[in-house]
Amino acid sequence: MISKRASKFTSFIVMDVMAKTEELERKGENVIHMEVGEPDFPTPKVITEAATNALLNNKTRYTHALGLLELREAICTFYHKEYGVTITPDQVLVSTGTSPALLFAMLAILDHGDEVIISNPRYPCYQNFILAAGGKINEVKTYPEEGFQYRPRDIKKMLSPRTKAILINSPSNPTGIVMTKEQLQNIAQFDRQYIISDEIYHGLVYKDRAHSILEFTDKAFVINGFSKLYAMTGWRLGYCIFPKEFSNVMQRIHQNFMISANGFIQWAGIAALTKAKKDVARMIKTYDKRRRYMLARLLNMGFAIHVEPTGAFYVFADARRFCKDSYKEAFQIAEEVKVGITPGIDFGSGGEGFLRFSYANSLENIKEGLDRLERYLLKYF
Ligand code: PMP
Repeated sequence: MISKRASKFTSFIVMDVMAKTEELERKGENVIHMEVGEPDFPTPKVITEAATNALLNNKTRYTHALGLLELREAICTFYHKEYGVTITPDQVLVSTGTSPALLFAMLAILDHGDEVIISNPRYPCYQNFILAAGGKINEVKTYPEEGFQYRPRDIKKMLSPRTKAILINSPSNPTGIVMTKEQLQNIAQFDRQYIISDEIYHGLVYKDRAHSILEFTDKAFVINGFSKLYAMTGWRLGYCIFPKEFSNVMQRIHQNFMISANGFIQWAGIAALTKAKKDVARMIKTYDKRRRYMLARLLNMGFAIHVEPTGAFYVFADARRFCKDSYKEAFQIAEEVKVGITPGIDFGSGGEGFLRFSYANSLENIKEGLDRLERYLLKYF
């Protein structure tokens, strides 16, 4: 019998949309994918070369449970250069992606029944990490006009003696919105709770810059990784930065459940942090071109965009003028004009009536996809 806990794990609705678009493709249809949250670029050559060299040099063994010291040092240097914060290698755990790093952070801080505050809408996996560690979810509603940011007074109302952490994600999936310094400072003031900051889209920022929560508090767990900025989704490499007193327990958790992250891939991670600047700059320039094009087209079609998305590769467009049921609408759009879009409901009830468009696709494909969508809207609305 499946455990009660496991049966509560929700699935990604975007996977249903992808199953639909793949079925259409099998029937020979040409589908434009704007539902996928994954870079369309190949991994930069400096990174693949580093992995190949590491393999040829037999870097094929377990590493330290927290990760290769050289990589953890590179992560510390990276956070110092980018944000002016000082962390040490014993505060870093390297794992096989950001996802396991987040699970291990939850295991390290939650006791059965402890609560974690998450926003609605948010990245759909968060709730499952919390449940897996025996925790409880406390959802705080956020508002489109405010860029779906927490209102600190709403967090205050939600706090209980069992609240262990507040989870933030900037630049955000699904909104692409970047938190301001002031918004981060407001969250950092909750110093009886840990702030878990998902910084996986850091670097993919097209105006100003993103701030790390570590600039404002040490009582934070930062999770970050290589999937998005370096186009390395399939490599599975990510990390968690944590307060010093968690060093021993994070090491024990990883020793037991993973032993270590993949050895040769960690060498590729060092190359990503130290040698891929030019490649990243090129990808950012391209994403930004697509972002501006997509925003202009969506506004022109009558979608509302309340706060400009200046990060990640998503536009979370307010489609309430056209649609009440985002799940139904996304399927109808896929069926009729062969365009994949993620329904806002995937991210919680607060995302209903919204559609998430990913611009991790070529400008040519984005143009074609939006032309088709425009034809669809003209036909029905
Ligand atoms: N956090 C967010 C907000 C994400 O969008 C994703 C990937 N979709 C992850 C974490 C997980 O990333 P990784 O590939 O490093 O496990």
